[in-house]
Amino acid sequence: MSPDSELSPRRAARAEAERLATAALSVPVAPAPAETSASPTRRALREAGSSTAPLRRRSFAPVEDSTSSSEGGRLRAATERFSALPTARRRRLAVVAGAFAVVVATATVAVGLAIGAGADATASTSTDDSAVAAAIAGPPAVPSEGLPVPAVSAVAATATPCDDPAVTAALSAGDDAAAIAAAGGGSAFREAVASGIAPCVSLSDPNREWVVVNKQRPLDPVDYYPGDLIMPANVRALEDSALRTPAANALTAMVKAASDAGAGEIGYLSAFRSYTTQKSTYAGRVRVSGVEGADRESARPGYSEHQSGLAVDIVPCNGSCRTLDDVAASAQGAWVREHSWEFGFVTRYAEGREAVSGYEPEAWHLRYIGPELARAYHEGGFTTLEEFFGLPAAPTY
Ligand SMILES: [Zn+2]
Repeated sequence: MSPDSELSPRRAARAEAERLATAALSVPVAPAPAETSASPTRRALREAGSSTAPLRRRSFAPVEDSTSSSEGGRLRAATERFSALPTARRRRLAVVAGAFAVVVATATVAVGLAIGAGADATASTSTDDSAVAAAIAGPPAVPSEGLPVPAVSAVAATATPCDDPAVTAALSAGDDAAAIAAAGGGSAFREAVASGIAPCVSLSDPNREWVVVNKQRPLDPVDYYPGDLIMPANVRALEDSALRTPAANALTAMVKAASDAGAGEIGYLSAFRSYTTQKSTYAGRVRVSGVEGADRESARPGYSEHQSGLAVDIVPCNGSCRTLDDVAASAQGAWVREHSWEFGFVTRYAEGREAVSGYEPEAWHLRYIGPELARAYHEGGFTTLEEFFGLPAAPTY
């Protein structure tokens, strides 16, 4: 026989309420207000319920039953018993239940806070649980100075001079000096080209002052012929050999400066040589020395820097002019090594750089690359044009 069947509906409902209140953290429930019109029956019932020890013990028994169906059945039974109570009784029980709900809610919050505080304390001493602690603690507090802003490099936006309209406009106009200036000067221009971020600058364009011609880089087209060849003014020419206009004007200025400095007169032997001329010259060398010998003494047609119109072989002149081999030891040669860069020329084939340039040293062979690039070449300590522009070595064909 079920113990519940021995109780009246009223006593059962009250017992149920007391059980729930007692189970909720043993918080004492305020006694119901004194009844002013309680009947002897109700008072008797209340006294019997509150003083019956077996009833309290019994009320804890069902806690052991944890099946949801039993819980649901007990809940329905309690509800039916509650409904059967007189209105005043039900109201008083409702007050008790309400107080119980408030107590439970408060206790839940208190327990939750206690758990959170414990977790925080644990996290502060354990790095292993940092992720869990961060999840509990939420996002970190924003410092007063604000969140750090990632540093975004401004270089990225202007990394290539090819995005600069001033550079591309100068390139389109064929104004090499203006393009270099727009790119930030000779060094900046060189760095951009050498690092490969300036595809708009072609080192193969024969009309550019920065064209690179070597044993791996023939002129393109191979029979290129410059359109602005002139004879340098006021310079002794031992051959009827012209230069591109910027190079010719620079040679005139340099020769005058050397003379003014007391270094003596500078003349020149050979400047522009056409593809046709180089072809016959090289063929003559091959007939005498064979291919191997010819390659040591002369460039193959299409591979000579002289064909660009930007190279010149100077000679020292003191009254009469001497030979190419006399340049290195001459006063003119010494002055040129120090000052040619100021006029846009570099010594193209330097001592000890054959493995890169492909040629034995030629103190007489000057190459015009413009004053901006020549300054960068000089100040950067470069000795080959290949390294200056980040190109591979060209020791052989
Ligand atoms: Zn030469």
